Amino acid sequence: MAEKLGVQPSNLILGNGSNEIIEFVGHAYMAPGVDVVVSQYCFAVYPLVTKLFSATLVSVPAKKLGHDLAAMLAAITPRTRVVFVANPNNPTGTAVSSAELLRFVEQVPANVLLVMDEAYLEFLDGAADLVAQIRSGAKPNLLLMRTFSKIYGLAGLRVGYGIAHPDLIAAFEKVRQPFNINSIA
Ligand SMILES: *Cc1c(COP(=O)(O)O)cnc(C)c1O
Repeated sequence: MAEKLGVQPSNLILGNGSNEIIEFVGHAYMAPGVDVVVSQYCFAVYPLVTKLFSATLVSVPAKKLGHDLAAMLAAITPRTRVVFVANPNNPTGTAVSSAELLRFVEQVPANVLLVMDEAYLEFLDGAADLVAQIRSGAKPNLLLMRTFSKIYGLAGLRVGYGIAHPDLIAAFEKVRQPFNINSIA
């Protein structure tokens, strides 16, 4: 996978579906008093994991059913530790432009983890290549999440993965179960 993506193995972590990667984010980042910024109509698991870790969900009103990235940036405060963006989004099927997305990635403060959920990335033509930001090491606060569940139709196998700076991956390795991926997957 590292070879295919043009990254190092230390840039990757596997999960029992990318749902488990979302849980790693909870373990590593969320606690009471922490704000988690999402868009209205976001993927259902972000609010569930936020609640599981007793963090506070900040839901930003949607723009034409999709992410209002400017409003999400404005919702970031000193209490914010995580921002989730799914592009394309589930359940609304909305997507922002590559240019808009790249601008957003540049603007999220370095002390806030930006989780870019790319579960449906392969269905887009001309998607922004955020792996370049991981390859260059420029964004230690960026986590990309992908999955074999959607484009490959292998949801029952439960394999998802995260792509990020090695320091971030190392933190997630500390909070995952030792035997999270089974040998068949
Ligand atoms: C399906 C989906 C996932 C994760 O699915 P897994 O089967 O756990 O990999 C994550 N995010 C979004 C937006 C999804 O639609």
